[in-house]
Amino acid sequence: MSLSTGSPVRPTVGSESGLEVRTENLHRTYGRGRDAVKALRGVDVSFAAGTFTAVMGPSGSGKSTLLHCMAGMDRQTAGTVHWGATEITALPERRLAQLRRVEAGFIFQSYNLMPSMTVEQNVALPARLAGTRVDWDAVTEALAQVGLADRRKERPGRLSGGQQQRVAVARALFSRPRILFADEPTGALDRSTSRDVLWLLRERVDTEGRTCVMVTHDPVAASFADRVVVLADGVLVDDLVRPSAALIAEKLSGLAC
Ligand code: ADP
Ligand code: MG
Repeated sequence: MSLSTGSPVRPTVGSESGLEVRTENLHRTYGRGRDAVKALRGVDVSFAAGTFTAVMGPSGSGKSTLLHCMAGMDRQTAGTVHWGATEITALPERRLAQLRRVEAGFIFQSYNLMPSMTVEQNVALPARLAGTRVDWDAVTEALAQVGLADRRKERPGRLSGGQQQRVAVARALFSRPRILFADEPTGALDRSTSRDVLWLLRERVDTEGRTCVMVTHDPVAASFADRVVVLADGVLVDDLVRPSAALIAEKLSGLAC
């Protein structure tokens, strides 16, 4: 099977509303000379619209670097990234930032909420930064979707880790982005809260055809995805369609994860 094409296994509803993400010969080197670290060494991969993919691999294999470069949050050393027909790696910084606010949502392991703002202000923040007038009823609706409408006036610090991550999911989904990037979104959560968050992502892919790329080291989290790609030492070494948790564990154990 080619490493650069991923075919969705199940038909998705409204997959035209997602956006394909594609890298070509992506390289990212940190530092120079003898201290240079080659985090990505020529990654060719594409994530079809309306699919949910897990990116796995040992610590330090380049997963976060790949996600950040694909999300336009880090600049590659060589190669290209496309979102649909747009080569984001060719865009000037301002234009890229604008596009990112419209097309992409991000979820991180550490939630990245603003502690001094209320839950609803956190959800509305990206829209405010984009200069959009905030529809507060829509903010409440987004929080209702993650089961937290009644907590909207509180500060994030009063919520549990799982609840904070659900706020981060609501924030990421609020602008209805066509691409969702998540870097170990369940890394700090217990099993049942992880499942809640993963279902929220799965649902967006199934009902709205969003494209979701999620870094995870957890085979159970990866089993929510349609496909698992495995990175080792900055290159793609496996591309699995709907693998069982057992097969994922077997592939990873060979890489000393
Ligand atoms: P992963 O997410 O798979 O654990 P990363 O993408 O974070 O891996 O890192 C890949 C490699 O690049 C590692 O060797 C890491 O130390 C290095 N690296 C990541 N970010 C930086 C940085 N900002 N400066 C220098 N080296 C970095
Ligand atoms: Mg990482």
